[in-house]
Amino acid sequence: MSRFLSSRYAGLTEYVPGEQPQDKQYIKLNTNESPYPPSPAVLNAINTAAVSQLNLYSDPDAKLLVNALAAQYGVGPENVFLSNGSDDILNFAFMAFCDGGVKFPEITYGFYTVYAALHGVAYETPALRPDFSIDPSDYYNAGCSVVLANPNAQTGVALPLTEIERIVRSNPDQVVVIDEAYVDFGGESAVPLTRQYDNLLVVQTFSKSRSMAGARLGFAIGPKGLIADLNKLKYSTNPYNLNRLTQLAGVAALSEQSYYDENCRRIMETRQYTRDALTALGFTCTNSQANFLLARTDAMDGETLYRKLKDRGILVRHFSDPLITDWVRITIGSQEQMETLVGVVEELVR
Ligand code: PMP
Repeated sequence: MSRFLSSRYAGLTEYVPGEQPQDKQYIKLNTNESPYPPSPAVLNAINTAAVSQLNLYSDPDAKLLVNALAAQYGVGPENVFLSNGSDDILNFAFMAFCDGGVKFPEITYGFYTVYAALHGVAYETPALRPDFSIDPSDYYNAGCSVVLANPNAQTGVALPLTEIERIVRSNPDQVVVIDEAYVDFGGESAVPLTRQYDNLLVVQTFSKSRSMAGARLGFAIGPKGLIADLNKLKYSTNPYNLNRLTQLAGVAALSEQSYYDENCRRIMETRQYTRDALTALGFTCTNSQANFLLARTDAMDGETLYRKLKDRGILVRHFSDPLITDWVRITIGSQEQMETLVGVVEELVR
């Protein structure tokens, strides 16, 4: 740290992203990316003609992409906000809507505490139940904003839509943010509720189910007022927050939704295979509706398992948080990758 850094930020503990090793090829099951490439239309959209226009700024309103998302989700363009990954949108949401504090679960996406600290937002973190499910009553009449990942991060456990609606309804004067990064792998989306409730913001991403983590494209769907607030912040920081290529890729991806639906179906099938195989090897796995499993074994602690897998060319995620330090988070890759993982795990625990 230099002596010039604002004292506001001197005490910040930054978010630590999952490893992105550049040195060797791993079976990469550590950052919940899709094992499948973007659809053919996306590959075609990023062509020489598109690249040759990079001398021109992108459309700050990203109209084509906003309209395509609005059509796909049955909302108006005034209900859609786009940014450079859903992390960027969550950052804006903590900046915009959390003056009175925020509640999120004790085990969830690690970035929430970082955004809270960055924006000086007080936060409370109710514990999960022993099966790692969220107790929805912890969020009724919260008295502050609520941010819930559904399915939840790190555990993959989902709340039913009826419970999300109860939380939204019981907090009419607070914003409830539902982070649906993993919703396409078996969760129930709260997007339809955004037509009825002026305090509900749903955040999604192209990084997981739409195979575009490297393009950095996140979107939020919500009532007009909340979307206008997010745009106010965007136009006060970086109006060109989405580059030209990402906008083209996003529109192309939406034109081939069935390709992505089929990939999600395959990932859910492979998730079931992996859960069954690990359970047969004595593991405990959470009831994940996401593209990952949180898994533990009595044979060794989470960090040892992570290291032994890494030594054998398989990268999974281990968290130092004492609440889940016995566990590893394993992204669901292709069927072939997961069969390799299961084979290696079998050798390690035998
Ligand atoms: N929310 C959750 C729960 C996540 O796990 C992630 C991915 N790390 C994100 C949001 C951010 O995803 P992105 O910025 O790639 O859209």
